[in-house]
Amino acid sequence: MPADPVGIARDLIRCRSVTPEEGGALAYLHDVLSRASFEVHRTTFAEAGTAAVENLYARIGAEKPNLMFAGHTDVVPPGDEAAWRHAPFAGEIAGDRLYGRGAVDMKGGIACFVAAALDHVAENGGMPKKGSLSLLITGDEESVAVNGTAKLLKWVAARGETFDHCILGEPSNVASVGDTIKAGRRGSLNGMLVVNGRQGHVAYPDRADNPIRGLTALIAALQAPLDEGSTHFDPSHLEFTSVDVGNPTVNLIPGEARARFNIRYNDQHSQTALKMLIERRAQTAAAGRVHFSFDWQPSNADVFVTKPGPFTELAAAAIEEVTGRVPELSTSGGTSDARFIKDYCPVLEFGLVGQTMHQVDECAPVADLVTLTLIYRRIIDKYFG
Ligand SMILES: [Zn+2]
Repeated sequence: MPADPVGIARDLIRCRSVTPEEGGALAYLHDVLSRASFEVHRTTFAEAGTAAVENLYARIGAEKPNLMFAGHTDVVPPGDEAAWRHAPFAGEIAGDRLYGRGAVDMKGGIACFVAAALDHVAENGGMPKKGSLSLLITGDEESVAVNGTAKLLKWVAARGETFDHCILGEPSNVASVGDTIKAGRRGSLNGMLVVNGRQGHVAYPDRADNPIRGLTALIAALQAPLDEGSTHFDPSHLEFTSVDVGNPTVNLIPGEARARFNIRYNDQHSQTALKMLIERRAQTAAAGRVHFSFDWQPSNADVFVTKPGPFTELAAAAIEEVTGRVPELSTSGGTSDARFIKDYCPVLEFGLVGQTMHQVDECAPVADLVTLTLIYRRIIDKYFG
């Protein structure tokens, strides 16, 4: 009998794995996968200042190539549970939909690739047709992502294992299953611009140096376009997210003003080059009259792209064969754990439709879970075919 992705998704939703809690979700997968003879490892990673987080790595087969499916069982909090028509951790099916926190982001996606992997193995005498299938599941994606995928990949690599290709089951589709594969992500960089002036009485501005004048001039200069986009990416952009002086006094010129910003950047830039570009622009706008400095936050979200090639073609063909849709290769949206996986092997993101993710009454159409399982199954069969 084929594995039941809807049942697996429902069981996972019933685990209260609000980040960073394991909530029984990994224990459940451990049980399901070890019964199908996967070798299952559970590891807990910790670091000062962050919550310890449980992770799971499972593999069947010892040979190359190793096709990895990746995902996270942690979910964002439900918010006011009374606002949900279907309780967030009940896993109710109503009409033709499965409801619950994580239905699309991304317990549903995990259920589909688990079901597809179990079916492939069952139909090939209890092993992959050739090579290996592995599952890399973290409980630390929705929070700081410090004790999750990055450390788990390192841990597996330290065992001498390698990965050849990865499908990350994040909800990649916009309107229907099959419309979008994410084949890369923009980088993300946070910074703070600080302008120093001289405090003084507002009636005697000549005796002070108002940093707000300098700050607004620099803000204007830094919002100029960064590039015109590239083959695989939209233009980069810098957005100011906060402008702060914190001055409660009406007759005081403040001594300092700050502005916080985020840059989403494409493959035209490295982090170092981007910082230099921004600092140079500020220097020009300051024209020697404004005293400023930048405070850059460390970023582990660098830009990457998985270029079109045999693996993207294989995935796109599987999607088209099952759905009739030709998926778009997109690099839009926020960051994901693909930023860590890309250092180990080419990675594509493909999962359910993202529309209800992180919302009240998050839900996945049952038909989508069935379709996605067929697509994953087709990808596995082609990969080992
Ligand atoms: Zn997610």
